[in-house]
Amino acid sequence: MTMGKSKPFAGDKRVQLLEEMASTTYDVLVVGGGITGSGVALDAQTRGLKTALIEMQDFAAGTSSRSTKLVHGGLRYLKQYEFKIVAETGRERAVVYENGPHVTTPEWMLLPFYKGGTYGPFMTSVGLWMYDILAGVKKSERRSMLSVEEALRREPLLKKDNMLGGGYYVEYRTDDARLTIEVLKKAVQVGATAVNYTKATELIYDGDGKLTGVRVKDLLGGGEYTVKARAVVNATGPWVDTLREQDKSKKGKTVRLTKGVHLVFDGKRFPLRQAIYFDTPDGRMVFAIPRDGKTYVGTTDTDYTGDTARPTMSEADRTYILNAANFMFPTLKLTEADVESSWAGLRPLVYQEGKSPSEVSRKDEIFVSPSGLITIAGGKLTGYRHMAETIVDVVAKRLGSSASGLIGPCITKTLPISGGDVGGSEGYPKYVKEHTPEGVAAGLSQEAAERIVRRYGSNAGQLFEIAASSKEAAEKAGLPLDVYSMLMYSIEHEMVATPADFWVRRSGDMFFNIDRVRQWKDASIEVMAERLRYSEEEKRRYAQQLDQLIYEAVTPTAAV
Ligand code: FAD
Repeated sequence: MTMGKSKPFAGDKRVQLLEEMASTTYDVLVVGGGITGSGVALDAQTRGLKTALIEMQDFAAGTSSRSTKLVHGGLRYLKQYEFKIVAETGRERAVVYENGPHVTTPEWMLLPFYKGGTYGPFMTSVGLWMYDILAGVKKSERRSMLSVEEALRREPLLKKDNMLGGGYYVEYRTDDARLTIEVLKKAVQVGATAVNYTKATELIYDGDGKLTGVRVKDLLGGGEYTVKARAVVNATGPWVDTLREQDKSKKGKTVRLTKGVHLVFDGKRFPLRQAIYFDTPDGRMVFAIPRDGKTYVGTTDTDYTGDTARPTMSEADRTYILNAANFMFPTLKLTEADVESSWAGLRPLVYQEGKSPSEVSRKDEIFVSPSGLITIAGGKLTGYRHMAETIVDVVAKRLGSSASGLIGPCITKTLPISGGDVGGSEGYPKYVKEHTPEGVAAGLSQEAAERIVRRYGSNAGQLFEIAASSKEAAEKAGLPLDVYSMLMYSIEHEMVATPADFWVRRSGDMFFNIDRVRQWKDASIEVMAERLRYSEEEKRRYAQQLDQLIYEAVTPTAAV
């Protein structure tokens, strides 16, 4: 296996990287920097393929920062008797966890059952038992069945009327945007080139109609470039059909979008102790999950025809989730005023023309067009690595000896993602304990230092280095040392280019600590303006954009 030299991944190196991309012929160009594209880039580069990735927004700004943030074990496939998928997904979940314990955490889930509910005790018990076996769930995480008293002891807020008990099993919680960025950072560390805010505007073909590259536009700097590649992977999630249309290969199966919204409440107002997967009054199922002092609830599932890049919460979405939460947690009496933040995402569901929406497939689909465009549609956070392996197998087969070098086997199954060198899931708690004092020595509080090790894993040392030399700069900027260090790290090592990149996707604070965004946004924009040399116009635009995002997180927009 030949891995390349680590590439820069800083917010002010974008143009330099684009120029380099324009003078290189790649084996693989990935269009789309969500979890799917990032996974493909990592797999391809680690097999020795010269790889580039472009993303028209920020990395993970599509669906990959807007999910329920669970690395599912595939339990729901049991209902459809898809045993193979259950087994595969369950095993893959363990792989995702082992390779990045700093972004994925086991979370016990309580599935309460009631008279007349979706799941009864018998079916749940058998279902979860089968799931444990099929998915190879480790002993300590196998399901148990709870009596009414036990279920209510674990979560006293649950509706008591007609309760029959509960199933108790493990799901894995993640931060989808950070999972994506850590996978992509790893790809970049081993030699892939990745640039955000760069859109594929046109596909380029040779005389035989075979795809040879892509015309791309830098949406921040305005430059246009041609990137040559032997294989082009369309990993654009909800946008896959746009590229297929440009390729004149959109036929048969196509993608349709449904919107899913989540609401966030403060933990003091909604003091959920325990993650719950529960029935809604209209017979669907939603999650309520405690996280970082907040509780989030979702999701909805409605057809969507609005702007693909900007789905938001409508009044109907908000009412639906509030009703569902009040139905299951009746003493809370939550109202609109309790909603602290929200986000909305689009599910790209693959459907066959002529079939009804209920037959929509939630499986991954790969289409290879006559021109050679390789499209991946559907897909989940959980299956990203396995899916990437499958796609790169297709790429490798097509490239054969025309690749720039020898193509090695897939190695990602045991490859830690960036920040994941923490001794696996078993070594991780010890890693956190041992490395937190380094942050304290760098001038951070115990709490901030620990939060940084937990979030950045084995990259925490780089943040502590920044902290150790930035006390004065942080003070001058009017930012707490931890916020300043995270911001600087994200610009230098995670290609943060705009304030929203940091506050929405690198820190997640827009969802889980929106007051922090309100408090530090002006100071952070000043720091970024200086570091990234914003013009006055850019500075104003980015400030407005952040204000608009804060507004949309709490204010419903018209339904689409
Ligand atoms: P995306 O993340 O959307 O990435 C595609 C990217 O392509 C976008 O960032 C876009 O900007 C870019 N792009 C588009 N066109 C171009 C172009 N022309 N040039 C350059 N770039 C372009 N999965 C789970 O495993 N667990 C969950 O709990 C879960 N919950 C979910 C809840 C909701 C509400 C939704 C909507 C989805 C959920 N999913 C979940 C599914 C999961 O989030 C998605 O399957 C996954 O994020 C898709 O990733 P992707 O990379 O394929 O697409």
